[in-house]
Amino acid sequence: MNFLEERILKDGVIKEGNVLKVDSFLNHQMDVALLEEIGKEFHRRFANLKITKVLTIEASGIAIAYAVARCFGVPMLFAKKAKSINLDGDMYTAEVESFTHRNKNQIIVSKKFLSSDDRILIVDDFLANGCALQGLISITEAAGAEVAGIGIAIEKGFQYGGRSIRNLGYRVESLAIVDSMDAATKTIVFRSQAE
Ligand code: 5GP
Repeated sequence: MNFLEERILKDGVIKEGNVLKVDSFLNHQMDVALLEEIGKEFHRRFANLKITKVLTIEASGIAIAYAVARCFGVPMLFAKKAKSINLDGDMYTAEVESFTHRNKNQIIVSKKFLSSDDRILIVDDFLANGCALQGLISITEAAGAEVAGIGIAIEKGFQYGGRSIRNLGYRVESLAIVDSMDAATKTIVFRSQAE
């Protein structure tokens, strides 16, 4: 079991509706030492890919992406959730359905921060149905940049996002993959992965 799986078992809380709460160490209060570990681990896994930028989506991806970008020594960029539909042409946009809030957001990234020379590492806290990732992938590719890899802290393997994004040919590395969880018995089963 790796450091993140151990922490999820210790402090994660299973909610109804297939939601795992990790707000005591990752999503609200943040354990910065744990974030640094996550950054180092993604750097180890993607070190040879000549990453030029780390891309995530606000809000909960930002801290993880910061830690990862720090290890690579590259800028971190986050897609903003647009408040207005009055967007000018200087933005890449994508529509993203939120799993936790059950609403749709337009996400935006300024064109000046992505170029066709970029090799992007996309990072997020959770992978559920894959909508957030699909949005980030489409923005990256609209800029002519390459999605070099995708790093996820916690993948919920019983939802279809991981399978569908890997089937498209992207390299997705998840530090913890939850294969099943049960709110009544408070049990979480992780997929075993080669370390
Ligand atoms: P997806 O777009 O893959 O369906 O969902 C990913 C996004 O939804 C992540 O950015 C994350 O913020 C949120 N999310 C999905 N499932 C969970 C969950 O079980 N717990 C928490 N805390 N966030 C989740």
